[in-house]
Amino acid sequence: MPSRGFVPVSPSLIDSLSAVAGTENVIVDEAGVETLSKDYYWYSPVLTKRLADRRASAAVKVSSLNVLREVVALAVAARVPMTVRGAATGNYGQCIPLYGGLVIDVGGMDRILAIEDGVVTAEPGARLVSIENAARPLGWELRCYPSTWVKATIGGFLGGGSGGIGSISWGGLLEPGTVKRLTLLTVEDEPRTITLEEADTRPAIHAYGTNGIIVEAQMRLAPAYPWDQMVIAGQSWDRVLDFAEEIARDDGVRKRLVTLLEDPLPSYFRPIKKFYPPDHHLIFLEVESASAAAVKARALAAGLTVSHTIPHHEPRRSPMLSDYTWNHTTLWAIKADPSYTYVQAGFGPNVREQIRELQARFPAEILFHLEFTKNRPAPGAAPVVGCGGIPVIKFTTEERLAEIIRTCRQIGVGIADPHSCYVNEGWSGVDWSPHHRLKTKADPYGLLNPGKFSDYAADPFARGQADPRFLFTA
Ligand code: FAD
Repeated sequence: MPSRGFVPVSPSLIDSLSAVAGTENVIVDEAGVETLSKDYYWYSPVLTKRLADRRASAAVKVSSLNVLREVVALAVAARVPMTVRGAATGNYGQCIPLYGGLVIDVGGMDRILAIEDGVVTAEPGARLVSIENAARPLGWELRCYPSTWVKATIGGFLGGGSGGIGSISWGGLLEPGTVKRLTLLTVEDEPRTITLEEADTRPAIHAYGTNGIIVEAQMRLAPAYPWDQMVIAGQSWDRVLDFAEEIARDDGVRKRLVTLLEDPLPSYFRPIKKFYPPDHHLIFLEVESASAAAVKARALAAGLTVSHTIPHHEPRRSPMLSDYTWNHTTLWAIKADPSYTYVQAGFGPNVREQIRELQARFPAEILFHLEFTKNRPAPGAAPVVGCGGIPVIKFTTEERLAEIIRTCRQIGVGIADPHSCYVNEGWSGVDWSPHHRLKTKADPYGLLNPGKFSDYAADPFARGQADPRFLFTA
C-alpha cells in the first residue's frame, strides 16, 4: 500500500524520462526503487520507524547536465516531487523521499573539471576520494572530508554533510572560504543555472537538496602534506583527554585528525582490534610525518603508549584509521551491538565536567567519542579549537533518548539532532530564512525534497497541514 502522501510517477512520464535518459537509466522495479530511495537513516531507531515505508515511485540516473535539465523539466511539468541522490551515505534520511515522486541519482555526473591554484571544480557526483587522489600529486588536498570519502560525492557532502577529517585544521563546510562557488540548477518550467559566489553559498550547504540542484562545485583545497597515522592508548581518561586536547591546540603540530574514543568503543573495531590494549581509551591521530617522532615522544612522556603507527603512503587509501572515526565509529558500534545509536554533540570549555555529569546521570548508556575541530566563528575572526563528538548511545526508548538530548542541552552541550529528517531540526541556532528565500527562487513549485523543511509554509504537498509531520501520524 502506498504510504501517506505518496505521489506516483505516471506511465507517460516514465516514457518521457526513458526517451531523454535512456530506458536503462529509468528504474521502476520495486526492489530497484526501494534501494535508490534509502540511505543510512537506520543509524537512528527513531528514523527507522518513521521512514521505513517511504520510497520514491521511480528513479532516474543521469550523467550529464543536459539530461538532468530535461529530466527536471519533465518532472516540473508533471509537478512531481524530486529527491536528489549522490552516494546516499547521509544518515538523517536526507535522501529519502517523503512524498514518493522521482529520485534523481546524479552520481554519474562525476567529472573533476579542474584543479587549479588550489581550487577544485567538479561535477556533483565526483567522489571525494577521487578529488583527493587527483589533487595530491599537484600539491593539494581536501581541506576536510567525511569518513565516507571513498563513496561520498562532493554534491552530497555539500548537500548533507558538515565536516570531518581535516576539520581540526580547516574547520567544516561552513568555514569561510572553503566553498568558493556553487552552480545550481533551478527546478522551473525551463530549468536554468544560477551561480552563488562564496558568501552566498551558505544557504545551499547542508540544505538536503531542497533549494536547488548543485551541478558544479568549486572548493578551495589545502596544501598537501605527508601524514602519519598513530594510535595512542591510555587507561586514565583524564590523561588521554588532556593529551588529545594538547595536540589539538598545538599550532606547532600540523594535523588532520584528533579523535578520542572511550573504552570499550575501540573493542568494536574488529579489523584493528590488535592495536587496542584492553581497558584502554584510544586517541587516533593523523599528524604531519615531520612531527610524528616528536608527538610520539610527548605521548610517552605523558605516560601513554603508542600502540600502532602507519607511516605516510601514496595514494592515500583505505584501510585507514579514519575508517574508525567520525560517524564510522558509530557504524562499528552498531555492527557489534544493533541497540547502539548516537548523538552529535558540541561540548563547551568545561567538557570535562559535562562528560562527568553525563556519565553520572546515564551510566552505561553513553560512550564518549570526541572529535576536535578548529573553526572560525565568523569571517575574519580568530580560529577556535573546539571539542565536539559523536557519543554512542545505548538506545532503549525514544523517551529516554529525548531525555539524554534534553539533559545535554540543559548542561550546555550543543546537540545537532540526528534523529530528525528535517533540515531545520538538525543544526541549532541557524536562521533558516536565507535557505527559504533560495528555495523560493530556485524551486518555486516546492518540488525539491518536499517536507524536509518542516517550517516551510509554501510546501505544496503538506495539503493544508502546517507541518509535514502529519505524514507520520496515524
Ligand atoms: P547523499 O547521502 O547522497 O546526499 C546527502 C544530501 O544531499 C541529500 O539530502 C541529497 O538530497 C543532497 N544532495 C545530494 N546531491 C546533491 C546535489 N547535487 N545537489 C543538491 N543536493 C544534493 N558526514 C560528515 O559530514 N562527516 C563525516 O565524517 C561523516 N561520516 C559518516 C560516516 C558514516 C559511516 C556514514 C553512514 C555517514 C557519515 N556522514 C558524515 C554523513 C554522509 O556520509 C556525508 O554527509 C556524505 O558527505 C554524504 O555524501 P553522499 O554523496 O552520500 O550524499
